[in-house]
Amino acid sequence: MAKTSNPPSILLLSGLDPTGGAGISADIRSASRWDVYPLPVITALTAQNHKGVHRIDVPDPDLIDLQLNDIVKAITPNAVKIGMIPDERMIDIIARVIKKCEIKNIVLDPVLSASAGGKLVDNDKTILALVEKLFPLATLVTPNRQEFQKINKVLAKHNRPDIFSYSNATLITGGDSEDSHCIDYLYEDNKLIATFKGVKINSNNLHGTGCIFSTSIASQLAYGCSLTEAISKAKEFLSDSIEASAHLSLIPEYGPSLV
Ligand code: PLP
Repeated sequence: MAKTSNPPSILLLSGLDPTGGAGISADIRSASRWDVYPLPVITALTAQNHKGVHRIDVPDPDLIDLQLNDIVKAITPNAVKIGMIPDERMIDIIARVIKKCEIKNIVLDPVLSASAGGKLVDNDKTILALVEKLFPLATLVTPNRQEFQKINKVLAKHNRPDIFSYSNATLITGGDSEDSHCIDYLYEDNKLIATFKGVKINSNNLHGTGCIFSTSIASQLAYGCSLTEAISKAKEFLSDSIEASAHLSLIPEYGPSLV
């Protein structure tokens, strides 16, 4: 069927996970499901699977610079999802382009490790640069509880104030909760302003759920939704995806959530 109007577009800055569960492939699948046109930039090449992370290669930041400039000369993204960013110079380049082009609707998922085990970003200087240079530009930052604690630990170690001093809004995601419900907590200016409650779905197929969630929130922002509306819709979409994928055995030990 012919499309009658342009879909919004989303710039996706994420690492490549060759098992396809997380990172850029999860982002592209999620944006596409929302009918948002993906503009993918690969920020890290990983070798990883359900047993852990085995190697990370960082693309030349000059290439990322060129790619971003080529994109923004062609199209202005309506939203951005920032995932794994393993390099300080890459952080500077991304911050410069976002500021220069006044790009809005930025959701930053501060990816630090893979749930199957293994660090993805584990250098204090990179974490500090991410927090100091990119958090203030983001509409929303979406750490899970471990990422929230780890980032605050690094900030405290380097005598910096906590995450809330840098981010405009922070959603602490509770997907790793052991309880019967997963609750996500939305903070603005150090104040809890909303909670989002979902039923915990038992599944081995949870790889990439953080990517699906953050990209879905950014996709909703691209359509003009408010922040709380975007989070609610994305959470419902994620719960449906987890439920629909729970019976799959593509990768038995720690498989992907499909959208
Ligand atoms: N690999 C890449 C490239 C990612 O971006 C992410 C998460 O965002 C992961 C791995 C970890 O995904 P998970 O925690 O779902 O295993």
